[in-house]
Amino acid sequence: MRVAMIGTGYVGLVSGTCFSEFGHTVVCVDKNPERIEALQNGSIPIFEPGLEDLVARNVKAGRLFFTQDIKAAVDGADAVFIAVGTPSRRGDGEADLSYVYAAAGEIAAAMTRYTLVVTKSTVPVGTGREVERIIRTARPDADFEVASNPEFLREGAAIEDFMRPDRVVCGAESERAREVLRGLYRPLYINETPILFTAIETAELIKYAANAFLATKITFINEIADLCEKVNVNVQDVARGIGLDGRIGGKFLHAGPGYGGSCFPKDTQALVATGRKYEAPLRIVETVVDVNDRRKRQMAEKIVAACSGSVRGKTIAVLGLTFKPETDDMRDSPSLEIVPALQAAGATVRAYDPEGMGEAKKLLNGVVWCDDTYAAASGADALVIITEWNQFRALDLGRLKGLLSQPLIVDLRNIYKPAEMQQAGFAYHSVGRPPVRT
Ligand code: NAD
Repeated sequence: MRVAMIGTGYVGLVSGTCFSEFGHTVVCVDKNPERIEALQNGSIPIFEPGLEDLVARNVKAGRLFFTQDIKAAVDGADAVFIAVGTPSRRGDGEADLSYVYAAAGEIAAAMTRYTLVVTKSTVPVGTGREVERIIRTARPDADFEVASNPEFLREGAAIEDFMRPDRVVCGAESERAREVLRGLYRPLYINETPILFTAIETAELIKYAANAFLATKITFINEIADLCEKVNVNVQDVARGIGLDGRIGGKFLHAGPGYGGSCFPKDTQALVATGRKYEAPLRIVETVVDVNDRRKRQMAEKIVAACSGSVRGKTIAVLGLTFKPETDDMRDSPSLEIVPALQAAGATVRAYDPEGMGEAKKLLNGVVWCDDTYAAASGADALVIITEWNQFRALDLGRLKGLLSQPLIVDLRNIYKPAEMQQAGFAYHSVGRPPVRT
């Protein structure tokens, strides 16, 4: 089948490449000329494990193409996916749909035959209908249908998630539309991946409900972690104890500095806005947004408290800036709150991140950028772990102790054992875990 992917970011590039790996011919379109030029020259504009090889293989096989020319991409395509950004609109937290609607207008102008227009971007209930209206108004006689196919991939594991998803959700309302989607996902269909066909609005809401639920789970365990600190209980034992209950499940029960990233913050806010719009307030999600916002500031206070109540004139080494490991994505990362708060409290921050520093440099000022962990730690009064990159899980503690001017570690991801740290001679603070009893 022939596919056009409009928007070649984290979702569009991975989805387009994976569809080409499934055997379809895919043309990925983006408005950003540097992005398309880079891809045409074989370089990948984002960091996503395994993506470079997969892109190269499919380009070589003649199934994957990159262009800025939406007309050429849409002409003759069986399915056109909209995978453009839907950021938070400033002020009211609603999803900014201007990119989606602009793409719909451009697709309308370019269609030449029956086309299934599929929204892959995360969009509020009612957006699919509006996309349909925009295209119908521009092209009253065009042969097209609209479907919704929200994406559930996680950055850092995006290819695996796309190739082996827990389920595929398709909001499609005619047999013809369903047949196109079945054809696109045929390899998964054969593997018996559950493919859920729903109404368009249902598919749109499933995506937000899923993200809000996961954000709630994280926020729940974060608040339990705060309580654990007060009552001398280890939150990891509590998480295991509840997570083994099949009704709860162990995933997304890791206490930490609060969720961030390109999806949860904006999607929870957009869902709250949808609830308000339809007079069905989502008070749990509202609270989750609130608690999570506060948590990032609270983490900066935790670091200050660990430094005997003041960081004025002190140097803090920060390891990890991206919102999670295995990505270079800095959108809404907790580090964007924590680092400036430490600086405002008088600290000098020395930072290192394996993949995120290019983006981080655009978003954080006054940071001393370091080439690796040990350079960051050199002469610092404390070391703070914000993101749990694998390379931070097995640090040379002896070397670190020699480099730091104080043997103090604040681990916001609980990647070390308190006893091990104590044995290595560190004052060690983590999240929701009691200090070692002596
Ligand atoms: P992104 O910002 O990385 O990429 C969007 C791309 O679309 C940009 O490169 C931009 O230049 C391009 N674009 C915008 N308008 C265009 C147009 N008219 N024509 C061509 N290109 C255009 O965004 P992303 O992270 O890939 O997210 C895309 C959507 O997928 C969002 O709705 C997001 O919520 C959703 N989503 C993201 C993830 C994730 O992990 N990033 C996961 C699931 C769903």
